Amino acid sequence: MTLEVSNVATETEADLTFTEVSNTVDFPKLERDLLKWWKDRRVVEQYLIKNDGAEERFSFIDGPITANNPMAVHHAWGRTYKDLFQRYQAMLGKEQRFQNGFDCQGLWVEVEVEKELGLKNKREIEDFGIANFVERCKERVWKYAEVQTEQAIRLGQWMDWDNSYYTMSDENNYTIWHFLKTCHDHGWIYKGHDVMPWCPRCGTGLSEHEIVTEGYQERTHLSVYVALPLGGEDASLLVWTTTPWTLAANVAAAVNPELAYLLVEQKGNLYYVAKDAAKQALKGEYEVVSEVTGADLVGKAYRAPFDSLPANAEVTHRVIPWSDVSSGEGTGIVHIAPGAGKEDFALSKEHDLQVIAPINQFGVYVEGFDWLSDEYVHDVAKRIERELRDQNVLYRSHQYTHRYPVCWRCNTDLVFRLVDEWFINMDGLRDRLMEVTREINWFPAFGKERELDWLTNMDDWMISKKRYWGLALPIWVCDDCEHFEVIGSEIELKERAVEGWDEFEGQTPHRPYIDHVKIECSACGGRSTRTPDVGNPWLDAGIVAMSTLDYRHDRDYWEKWYPADLITESFPGQFRNWFYALLAESTAIADEKPFRNVFTYALMRDEHGEEMHKSKGNAIWFDDAAEEIG
Ligand SMILES: [Zn+2]
Ligand SMILES: [Zn+2]
Repeated sequence: MTLEVSNVATETEADLTFTEVSNTVDFPKLERDLLKWWKDRRVVEQYLIKNDGAEERFSFIDGPITANNPMAVHHAWGRTYKDLFQRYQAMLGKEQRFQNGFDCQGLWVEVEVEKELGLKNKREIEDFGIANFVERCKERVWKYAEVQTEQAIRLGQWMDWDNSYYTMSDENNYTIWHFLKTCHDHGWIYKGHDVMPWCPRCGTGLSEHEIVTEGYQERTHLSVYVALPLGGEDASLLVWTTTPWTLAANVAAAVNPELAYLLVEQKGNLYYVAKDAAKQALKGEYEVVSEVTGADLVGKAYRAPFDSLPANAEVTHRVIPWSDVSSGEGTGIVHIAPGAGKEDFALSKEHDLQVIAPINQFGVYVEGFDWLSDEYVHDVAKRIERELRDQNVLYRSHQYTHRYPVCWRCNTDLVFRLVDEWFINMDGLRDRLMEVTREINWFPAFGKERELDWLTNMDDWMISKKRYWGLALPIWVCDDCEHFEVIGSEIELKERAVEGWDEFEGQTPHRPYIDHVKIECSACGGRSTRTPDVGNPWLDAGIVAMSTLDYRHDRDYWEKWYPADLITESFPGQFRNWFYALLAESTAIADEKPFRNVFTYALMRDEHGEEMHKSKGNAIWFDDAAEEIG
């Protein structure tokens, strides 16, 4: 860099024998001079078209950057790799596309806009108005796309900056519709009734990827040991829970039929507890009365502390067998609340248990829970402890520190909640995705195993979010018969629309305008309304190998540039996120890999080897790095 700048000096000041040279180097100034030199000579413009029409081609697809904040140094690092590969291929004389991408839709933008506007929850967003809110989200994206563009130019990255793609574009959204329609044609789209991790602040479910990637933090919770008196017997089961709020939805207690259990006496009370758990669970002296197996306990009925709540009027509690119960933690007897725990819900199907769903989308107890109704789950632990003590069923309580799932956006402790969400059944794609993954060159090579491992173990893809700013899921559900249909394009929607098209026409396919459009149910002739859900944002970034290459309108162009010769991103998380979404969406439509080579690199860390995060305070902003350090 410095060499080229001294050339500038030589050209313009050749007549001087000696130019005074400062003995302090101002790197930022050198860089700005160089940028100006490029600009004055239109270097980048010439570079972008230099190899147009060349016989050889190199197709690069940019993974979109979230246009939500200014860049930090790790973004600059990633962009440097991208630029390096493209410049090298340009020097080899290959024709290329130089399209930068911005990721625009999703909760991360919503959360920042909520902060800007001082909105605290979904209710306040709806009072503010969905149309206004969505408009503010768009504005934020435009603003930061511009900031990031300026920063990338300052970095010295050479891209076709007037031609960036935006995942909020109509084309991107409608191409995802095409993908979802393709899935539906295969019978892969379904509405799932399941217990999911849920953020009560954001009011939305989190998909498996979001939790696996960055979802756990160390948390301390009030945990309780509770006695559940057995029916017709003067003894109690002892259970332990770190989420006392779920006790209100208890329907069963699980034991391992293979394990040994003790009946112990302590201060005149009799408790059942797993033999190997007795020492850790019980406090103080106790006497062993007898020993049984878990199988002996199965089927016994018991009373739970919240039986008197109207919501529990029909519930009968009993002991069920579950081979996953261990004596390593707690008491070896597990409290089961199918409406508030994932495994619990699975057990409810196996054992035909009642499902009590205690909370709404805001983590607030619904009606039927007496004094708990209208209370926020994260506020009730102390009062539940008191209630248990008053009922004389609190064995003991303590503060317990553990790794607990939290919302990656807002750090709120997650809860597990019974929901209706939309899913793609991934079994139909799993094998083909694995084949395609094996055809790709992964750098470093272990990336292939990481991706295959994910594809082997992934659950179905939860694609819905109960939010506002995002892909409008093109799923219309009949108001009468609940039959659902997936619409594959704006043209199909226009043809099918029986109401609301005029209000929608001319708008982008986002909430709330798209929600006005109704279609006729093909099963019963009734009216179908769009599900109010928006899409998982990884759908947006995962479609770009189709949408940005104009798959829907110019198949020749798409074929010219697909599959990409290269993508490159920082790898943590991407195996489950961008790489995965790109593989899934492209393969479902094109039945071919979306990229031939992928170059991945590790997370940037600070001088202590720690991950850099805005929230940790150790992130370095790009502007600071560029203007102060150079
Ligand atoms: Zn959240
Ligand atoms: Zn119908």
